[in-house]
Amino acid sequence: MTTKRLVERFVKYVKIPSASKEGVEDRFPSTPEQLELARILVKDLLEMGLSDATVDEHGYVFATLPGTNPKAPVIGFIAHMDTSPASPGENVKPVFHENYQGGDIVLPAGTNPVLHEKDNPELKNYTGDTVITTDGTTLLGADDKAGIAEILEAAQRLKDDGRPRPDIRIGFTPDEEVGNGTAHFDIKKFGVKYAYTLDGSSAAEVEDETFCADSATVTITGADVHPGYAKGKMINAVRIAARFIELLPPGLCPEYTEGREGYLHPMSFTGDVTKTSINFIVRDFALDGLKEKEKFLSDSALFLMREYPGSKIEVQLKESYRNMKYDLDKDPVVVEMAMKAVKNLGLTPKLTSIRGGTDGSRLSAMGLLTPNIGGGGKNFHSLKEWIAVGEMEKCTKLIMELAWLWGKKA
Ligand SMILES: [Zn+2]
Repeated sequence: MTTKRLVERFVKYVKIPSASKEGVEDRFPSTPEQLELARILVKDLLEMGLSDATVDEHGYVFATLPGTNPKAPVIGFIAHMDTSPASPGENVKPVFHENYQGGDIVLPAGTNPVLHEKDNPELKNYTGDTVITTDGTTLLGADDKAGIAEILEAAQRLKDDGRPRPDIRIGFTPDEEVGNGTAHFDIKKFGVKYAYTLDGSSAAEVEDETFCADSATVTITGADVHPGYAKGKMINAVRIAARFIELLPPGLCPEYTEGREGYLHPMSFTGDVTKTSINFIVRDFALDGLKEKEKFLSDSALFLMREYPGSKIEVQLKESYRNMKYDLDKDPVVVEMAMKAVKNLGLTPKLTSIRGGTDGSRLSAMGLLTPNIGGGGKNFHSLKEWIAVGEMEKCTKLIMELAWLWGKKA
């Protein structure tokens, strides 16, 4: 059975540890385990008959499923090989809960071993299905190995099917979870007209929006003197930094925002009397909202320099990524086709946004329009990550449906 093969692929890949690592600058990808997974994937692609499967020096795996309609535009499907460093990712032991009948799911190991139904209202959609969880001690890695398994399985099934399809390019990327998934992505070599990442939670959801994201460093320079003789002379950068953080309206912090609200987040703070710096990340779905939040930082700097004469406060901004909708709207067909494919599966398509970034936001900015579609996993990055086999099956069919839709295009 093809579903059995899909699940076997998934289990095989989640058992291969491939966590990425934050803050690694002297090598790419950030961990050697990802290269090991890349090599295994190339072997599996070759065995399927995708004879040009290769891994490049940076760990990107590319392969082609040749099409049957040479006039159709080349379409790419992309998933990331790394898992989040936020939870342990070694010795993953997937647990199968067959014919799930509702209610809480007990995870057999770990210190917090219950997947509560009330925290996971989506569970009720999978009554009678097989739910795959962790044993409670690691993440599952459905993010994004479900995407990888689904792409491979769809390619296999498409190969065995005669319907017209375009050339399909497969791309597996490293280091997505640490924000570097596209750092060495060779768009030219990938050579597609449009692409889809499979990194969402549900086959019915098409994600066409991400945050606009910048980082900001606020550097405060004071003046140190012996504290015994400091009266009227010392300018304490630590106290000014504390004031700076105090000025932030709580309503702008991530702890108080959701949905389409952006935020201004002080992430880390270092320093002494002479010099302090505060690192912020700034997020908003709209560019003018982003600029407004950044203006708040520069206004606060001006205000505090008046309050503390002699101090110097600088705000340095760095662009991270932009809402991919600005790019996707230039050529809406790529999102329209995804919505149509969802509909053809008998599901109600839903356009949603991601409160973060994806490989697709940078790829879209680089000129390769890439919305995000479902991989099917839930509770990403956590010990309570889970996925239902039925959802994986739907996500696989979504890829096939997309291939056939594009295969009709001239
Ligand atoms: Zn992911």
